[in-house]
Amino acid sequence: MSTKRLLGIFAHPDDEGGISGALLQYSTSGVETGLVCATRGEVGEIADPALATPENLGQVREGEMRAAAEVLGVHNLWFLGYRDSGMAGTADNQDPHAFMQTSAAEVVGKLVAIIRQFRPQVMVTFDETGAYGHPDHIAIYRHTTSAFYAAADAEQFPELGPAHLVSKLYYSAFPRSFVREMGTWLKSQNYEGSFSNLDPEKLGIPDEQISVRLNVEPWLETKDRSWSMHRTQANSNAIIAELPREIQRRWRSHEYYQLAATRVGPDVVGENDLFARV
Ligand SMILES: [Zn+2]
Repeated sequence: MSTKRLLGIFAHPDDEGGISGALLQYSTSGVETGLVCATRGEVGEIADPALATPENLGQVREGEMRAAAEVLGVHNLWFLGYRDSGMAGTADNQDPHAFMQTSAAEVVGKLVAIIRQFRPQVMVTFDETGAYGHPDHIAIYRHTTSAFYAAADAEQFPELGPAHLVSKLYYSAFPRSFVREMGTWLKSQNYEGSFSNLDPEKLGIPDEQISVRLNVEPWLETKDRSWSMHRTQANSNAIIAELPREIQRRWRSHEYYQLAATRVGPDVVGENDLFARV
């Protein structure tokens, strides 16, 4: 087993798309990679009714996630088994099994068990905006941040094994300058889709808070192939496909990470390595 391990913790199958370049780059260089999915994305879109029904969507998306993980070289995959809470303000939010309704102690305990078993040096989750405000994304951001500290504390969850100190916690994030640029473009096109009412000033993070800019151009084709495994979600990235080619190229050529917590010191500008000093 490799001595370096990277763990991504997200809410739904396909959320890993934002870090798929990192998963590819590091697994190719011998890092053991893992992914946690809090839900099976039960209330996501169904791009083609031939693929799934609302009743079996979770099961279908678990299969899609497994296929995508295979492409990404991810050999460790955990499903926490919660129900997708749906977009903010929908009736699915109120389902008693919805991820956003679950107690922090329960979720953090499940994450601590995985962290102490897999023993990653680096973890990645969403930033505080949850990329675009999905309540499950914000919930997993909160619980993962708590689990980073709880896993390292021998007095918390002693029944779940010896404490493990993760070296670095990163948030996967968009630079705000980019969100603004995209917002301006959408406005100029009079775009009226699900993202048109989002406030660019509340999305992404200030550019200066981004500490790792990972050039993922070498992985674009494989990133696309892994993304295409999420066949039921084929429409959810449609907005990107509508962007002018130049913006698209810049959007897709890098992944951005904010160092949220570190036990090995700060990142150095220009280093652009999630495993620096690990
Ligand atoms: Zn999601």
